[in-house]
Order: sequence, then C-alpha cells, then structure tokens
Amino acid sequence: MIDSHTHLDFCDPPHGELVAQALEAGVTKMLTVGTDVASSRDALAAAAEFPSVFAAVGHHPNNATAFSGADRAELLELASDPLCHAVGETGFDQYREGAPLEDQRLAFDAQIEIAGELGKPLIIHTRDADDLTIGALRERAEGVQVLLHCFTMPSRLDECLEAGWWISFAGNVTYPKATDLAAAAARVPDDRLLVETDAPYLSPQARRGERNTPAAVVHTAEFVAAARGVDYAAFSTLVERNAEQLFGW
Ligand SMILES: [Zn+2]
Repeated sequence: MIDSHTHLDFCDPPHGELVAQALEAGVTKMLTVGTDVASSRDALAAAAEFPSVFAAVGHHPNNATAFSGADRAELLELASDPLCHAVGETGFDQYREGAPLEDQRLAFDAQIEIAGELGKPLIIHTRDADDLTIGALRERAEGVQVLLHCFTMPSRLDECLEAGWWISFAGNVTYPKATDLAAAAARVPDDRLLVETDAPYLSPQARRGERNTPAAVVHTAEFVAAARGVDYAAFSTLVERNAEQLFGW
C-alpha cells in the first residue's frame, strides 16, 4: 500500500518510528509533503534517509502571506532535487484565517509553473474554494499532472475526471456521514485513484480521536476497496501501480 500524502515533520513520533510502523502495516512507500521551505527541506532529508520515503516540495496556501520571488526561486531549487517527486501542496484555502487570496494565487501560480518546468506532478490543496481552484487549474495547468489531495468535492467529481486529474482520498472518506465522498470513491476510474493519510490530521474512523500516522492508510484503503467491491490485495496492487506512474518512483 501507498500513503500518497503525509507530513512526517508534523507528526510527534520520530520519522524512523513512523516509517517502521508503516512498513509493518504493509505501507511500502509514502510521499511526505512540504508546506514551506523548512518543511520541504525536512521532506528531502527524510527521503534521503529512508528508502520508502519520497518528498514533495511546496508552499501551502495558508503559509502564502507575502510570497515572493525569492520564495519561488528557493522552491524551484528544492523541487529540482531528484528526491522531489511532486510539487505542492498548493492551491486555495478560504476556510482558515490564513494568507490573503492574492498571495495564495501568487504561490499557486509559481508552483504550477515549477511543476510544468520540471515535469513533476502538482499536489492540490483546496478548501472552500472549489470554483477558484478548478478555474485556476483549467486556465493554467494544462500539460501538468494534477493530483487533488484529500478530495472533498464529490459534486465536482465528473469535471475533475474529465480534466484528467488524479483523485486521492484521505481518512475523512471513512466517516459515517461522508456518504457522498464514499460514493465518489466507489466510482473514480481505476487509473486515477490514490489514498493517503494527511497525517497527523484526519485519522480514519477506525482510529478516530488519535493522531494519524502513515500506517493508518490501510484503514482508508480497506474502506475504499470495500466501497469498490474489490479485495484488498487487488486494490493495493492498483494503488501501487498508480503511484508509480504518477510519481515516477
Ligand atoms: Zn497536507
């Protein structure tokens, strides 16, 4: 199994412990995702240290205040590292009291360009910003492989699939009230689907109330496999193949 989106640097246990737990649970690879320059550096260092860890270099919309040309240059340099397998997370967030929208847009545009320049996939965070995010990607991300992380736009699924974007489900798909999300997880085509933890956030229902860890992606994967009516081993093979294709590892 693969955890396509985690934040090792935000989790409490040391990276080595999280990686060992994940391997024990059958999670053979994980992508740890940068949210600013410091966490992107941490992601690259983790990828250098652990064979099952791969890095994404990015600047989160909530950290985008006063995003500058210097930030863009630094991201480009870090993202050029061969240990970096994706750019982001980036996008729009109108839920949290975060960065001004114009700064979010600057950071987002920069990362779309970097992903395009480097030919690496782009990881999207979007919250309360469906139209803005979809519009920006439509306008500016042509030719870039787009992964919608922690998918939460079930009513927009068809548009996203028509655009060719990849869809990754996090632990919130397992919540009893999230029936529309579960229905979406059941019908994403085989070749566009991934699962993730977004650890330490969004623990799946089986672990709700605890801090999330990469190992717990197996609970989300079991849920999505059941929703799709396939057995876990077949689902695992499918997810591993998809991640290999998208992240090029
Ligand atoms: Zn994240």
